[in-house]
Amino acid sequence: MANSKYEYVRSFEQSDTLLPNTWIVVRIDGRGFHSFSNRYNFTKPNDIRALNLMNAAASAVVKEIPDLCIAYGVSDEYSFIFHKTTTLFDRRSSKLLSTVVSTFTAFYIHLWRVHFPPDIALQPPHLPTFDARTICYPTLANLRDYLSWRQVDCHINNLYNTTFWAMRQKGGMGPREVEEELKGTLASDKNEILWGRFGINYNDENEIFKKGSVVFCQYELEEPAEGRTDTLALEEDEATAVPDTEPSRTQKERAKKVRAKASVVVRHIDIIKDDFWERRPWISS
Ligand code: ATP
Ligand code: ATP
Ligand code: MG
Ligand code: MG
Ligand code: MG
Ligand code: MG
Repeated sequence: MANSKYEYVRSFEQSDTLLPNTWIVVRIDGRGFHSFSNRYNFTKPNDIRALNLMNAAASAVVKEIPDLCIAYGVSDEYSFIFHKTTTLFDRRSSKLLSTVVSTFTAFYIHLWRVHFPPDIALQPPHLPTFDARTICYPTLANLRDYLSWRQVDCHINNLYNTTFWAMRQKGGMGPREVEEELKGTLASDKNEILWGRFGINYNDENEIFKKGSVVFCQYELEEPAEGRTDTLALEEDEATAVPDTEPSRTQKERAKKVRAKASVVVRHIDIIKDDFWERRPWISS
């Protein structure tokens, strides 16, 4: 109701517009996933079903929100990056993060049954929820350092967890004992424990565990056939929408975006070195 005597309350809303021309990161993280993962019997240290579910939900988010240019996930967290030029929701922080986190949670719950067997069904009150924050990075170098930080963290945690759980599961040691022995050890010490005691070569571990997951839009660079059916379908739609005239520039750009979104891919690769970015210039340009 416009102009009611109550309308003044709107002026109490605080502006949370994020700095223009900066890369916006929305990082979400599962709340209490240590106990959530125990509750639903996740395999330790890495339950592949749970990781696939995180990746499926993240891919759906990237498809749903066109201004996202890349996302990176590990464990129960995901970082979604809005291109620095985005004007979505006038760059209001609460709008952006609440849309990302609720879209992600909706898909996580919706897709649960695709990734877990029927006897492992979600039950209240043990439902998955996620928190979220926004962070702005003024330069691409800062953004890449942010993503490198998350990927290095993935590696450090995974090496620790792999060693921890090998000592527990294969070495039959108790949690305190393992913690005590691993305190202050270097990466080389952990590699040595894995190889020397359990015959595990850390390098042979699954890439998804070691590198985490990168979600982005694929163009022609890799596997060009991947997006083809979507591309054709889209072109037909566009043709019926505008039968007689040349598509406008906006329409073309929208089509390009939708086409790109039609081939959102998940990769488990290094995003620290230049190679990833140089081979996919559309992500950061
Ligand atoms: P908080 O609410 O503060 O985030 P948390 O219990 O979620 O608490 P995190 O630091 O986010 O703590 O750690 C997530 C935990 O969830 C991991 O330590 C691990 O125990 C568990 N976890 C997440 N994903 C997986 C997975 N794919 N396989 C096995 N365990 C997982
Ligand atoms: P935005 O994303 O900007 O919020 P919106 O379409 O959600 O766009 P709102 O102003 O939030 O717009 O209005 C919500 C609309 O949802 C209502 O105008 C109405 O059409 C519909 N709606 C919501 N709840 C109901 C309901 N219980 N029954 C019928 N229609 C509903
Ligand atoms: Mg947390
Ligand atoms: Mg968590
Ligand atoms: Mg976490
Ligand atoms: Mg609404």
